Amino acid sequence: MHSIDLRAQYRTLQKRIDRAITKTVHGGSFILGKNVSALESAIATMTGARTAIGVNSGTDALFLSLKAAGIGPGDEVITTPFTFIATAETIAACGAKPVFVDIDPKTYTINSERVARTITKHTKGIIPVHLYGQMAPMQKLLALAKKHHLVIIEDAAQALGATQMLYGKKRFAGSVGTFGCISFFPTKNLGAYGDAGMVLSNNAGFGKKVSLLRNHGSQKKYYHEFLGYSSRLDELQAAILLAKLPYLKQWNAARQKLAHLYTKALTPIPSLTLPSVAVGNTHVFHQYILRTSKRDALRTFLEKRGIPTAIHYPLPLHLQPAFTCLRYRKESFPEAEVAAREVLSLPLYPEMPLTHMEQTIRAIQLFFAKKT
Ligand SMILES: *Cc1c(COP(=O)(O)O)cnc(C)c1O
Repeated sequence: MHSIDLRAQYRTLQKRIDRAITKTVHGGSFILGKNVSALESAIATMTGARTAIGVNSGTDALFLSLKAAGIGPGDEVITTPFTFIATAETIAACGAKPVFVDIDPKTYTINSERVARTITKHTKGIIPVHLYGQMAPMQKLLALAKKHHLVIIEDAAQALGATQMLYGKKRFAGSVGTFGCISFFPTKNLGAYGDAGMVLSNNAGFGKKVSLLRNHGSQKKYYHEFLGYSSRLDELQAAILLAKLPYLKQWNAARQKLAHLYTKALTPIPSLTLPSVAVGNTHVFHQYILRTSKRDALRTFLEKRGIPTAIHYPLPLHLQPAFTCLRYRKESFPEAEVAAREVLSLPLYPEMPLTHMEQTIRAIQLFFAKKT
């Protein structure tokens, strides 16, 4: 059994993807050509964002958004410690200071009340993370941003296609902040065959800034308006993503269906906490997360039966050796720390055979029948 099997998806679309690759290679244009523009338009249309700019990775999407917002030394950016390192790493890479705020233990996303209490005169932005495939509480964060003149950079790396009701309207992840950052890392809900990412923005000026920053500050070849970076999405990855994009909706629906089956089967086990979807959210289940104080024993039990699981994430960012410079102590963010000890990601991908799901469910039931 696999926790994710990327080959299964390739097999279902092999002809379509092979054709897209061959066509690109024969076309002879590999950087900033028509595939990238077509993908940018398609993602902008799908999410309702005004502009979309293809970049090299989700990490670079965050970094270039921070740069475009002018964030640098002396600035503070608030984010969650319960996320992938890139979220805070890019803040530090700009010379700014990542300031952590604990999570809501139900949804694992940033606690907006605590964000309000953490804003200082140095705060320039907030990076909410739409963890596991559901959006952070954007309405409260947008209100705070407006009041304190902050930029909001959504880390939507795990949530392409997720939605939230905002002021009575259904809005897509990545399309509501000042910037929205998408990752097309191969294991994400829409995955490339290499690194790829995208920045969304409703502000045309910021979009323009990112599109120049990704390409050496240049619009016209060999003329440079400012210093930038080399962080373009390439034509081959864009061609693959364009071939896959029409299927994203059905893949996300398949994830939701599988998540529903897990929840239905596991609800009777009292010592398990199952995913909780906040009112107004649709969750695209990039991961299906169980929570139990017996996590490590359960994980070993499943592993012995050939059922792979993962932990997202075992060590919160404030306790990472890489961030000792921030001088956070243990127990600074108790909810994130307990979550790191208790969460377990079950195997889940759109093509997952039902027999694998049944096997996983039976093993979990057996573990708790023995234990309790
Ligand atoms: C994957 C991911 C990133 C980084 O994306 P890459 O494309 O791998 O650089 C950032 N934040 C979160 C929450 C992620 O899951």
